[in-house]
Amino acid sequence: MTATVRKPGLLVDAVDVVKAFNSGSGQEPVTVLRGVSMTVTNGEMVAIVGPSGSGKSTLLYCLAGLEPLHSGKVELFGQDLASLGRNRLAKMRRDRIGFVFQSYNLIPSLTAAENAGLPGRLSRRRGAAEAARDSLRAVGLSERMRFLPGKLSGGQQQRVAIARVLASGASLVFADEPTGALDTRSGQQVLELLRETAAGDRSVVLVTHDLEAAARADRVLVLRDGQIHAELITPTVEEVLESVRAAGDEAAAA
Ligand code: ADP
Ligand code: MG
Repeated sequence: MTATVRKPGLLVDAVDVVKAFNSGSGQEPVTVLRGVSMTVTNGEMVAIVGPSGSGKSTLLYCLAGLEPLHSGKVELFGQDLASLGRNRLAKMRRDRIGFVFQSYNLIPSLTAAENAGLPGRLSRRRGAAEAARDSLRAVGLSERMRFLPGKLSGGQQQRVAIARVLASGASLVFADEPTGALDTRSGQQVLELLRETAAGDRSVVLVTHDLEAAARADRVLVLRDGQIHAELITPTVEEVLESVRAAGDEAAAA
């Protein structure tokens, strides 16, 4: 038996993560993640790219403790998620983890400012409302603070979701295609904010199909058919493109 070694600065330590979904009675479960191991350290921005259906969103959910694993292990902040009870996992998610969903997940009855300030309020953080307003300004929504999500465009709702994570002060931010609904300029603005967020003891894990966005990360993981096909360290856009192409071609040929 090996002793537990505290690895300083390691925010995410995932080992051999396997995830399968039941696809209906009598059907074989579909294995979506086939043994993914990866880490995220303090201050890092890690991008996950790969063909559609390769398991990127599923991986993000598993890393953030939103989906149970079939086998393998995910440690966040040095704690094995499987050993945390429901309440401690919920508390960790509330206080230390931010998630930008592809589908925004805003609360329809709350204004933009209330949505952005909600995590801070739930964690009883002092200055939560002020932080929410600051981050809405940072994403260019100072004129929309009192709007309900239903009165905002998809891109604006996405920016509220990003402001919510930035205002929460979460030290580990997961973002699933956060620029997917945005025009080029807003997309770059959001990416810049995420890039700035990944510093000190805060880290960002970004799923994206935007290869230029991925190339701004410290590390890029190329996922293919539920496995890490390549890891690129501070790659150029061309290097990311090449690697994604290779992953896609092999997937198509398989
Ligand atoms: P990506 O984000 O890379 O496009 P996903 O992680 O969303 O890929 O999905 C990977 C595979 O897992 C897909 O084949 C998808 O149909 C399947 N999948 C995802 N979520 C579920 C689910 N809740 N139940 C069954 N299958 C799922
Ligand atoms: Mg996805």
